[in-house]
Amino acid sequence: MKNRLNVEDYIRTIPDFPHQGIMFRDVTTLFNDPRGFRMAIDLLLHPYAGLQIDRVVGLEARGFILGGAIAHQLSTGFVPIRKKGKLPWRTIAQDYVLEYGEATVEIHEDAIQPGEQVLIVDDLLATGGTAEAGIKLVERLGGNILGCAFVVDLPDLGGRRRLEGLGVDVHALCSFE
Ligand code: IMP
Repeated sequence: MKNRLNVEDYIRTIPDFPHQGIMFRDVTTLFNDPRGFRMAIDLLLHPYAGLQIDRVVGLEARGFILGGAIAHQLSTGFVPIRKKGKLPWRTIAQDYVLEYGEATVEIHEDAIQPGEQVLIVDDLLATGGTAEAGIKLVERLGGNILGCAFVVDLPDLGGRRRLEGLGVDVHALCSFE
């Protein structure tokens, strides 16, 4: 029986995906395990116990899986931030820089009300570019970021420093060097 496993024990590492030299941290094995998934959701919420959270924002795509479960546990609403062109109603957009090129993410313009307390969730923090774009979208709608919660932090890529430099609290369940 799988006892006393930590979150990182449920994560599969795939060398050279999607490119040569990349160690891809695959959280689908964590999501697939009943204990692992529940443990991850509980631990992601742990630092925010007793705090008011009005909306949970998930970053496409694995942030939807985590964010949906967290929002359900809190009995609060869930808001998706999606890649450009996917959301059906009026949106605001934010560009950000990727390793090769640029990307754009969007949020529905009525998804967050000014003054709402928002928790942003994704599976993994690397350079922080994706999360920073999400933070900007939420802040442009007037939301207050309570924190950004991730299953995995890759500290060598500097995302935590970047987000903390913006004054945002970062919570991660495990890290890989
Ligand atoms: P960042 O914008 O550089 O922080 O990259 C984070 C985004 O890329 C997140 O939305 C992750 O889902 C995705 N990502 C980057 N590397 C990995 C990985 O090794 N495993 C899973 N997702 C990753």
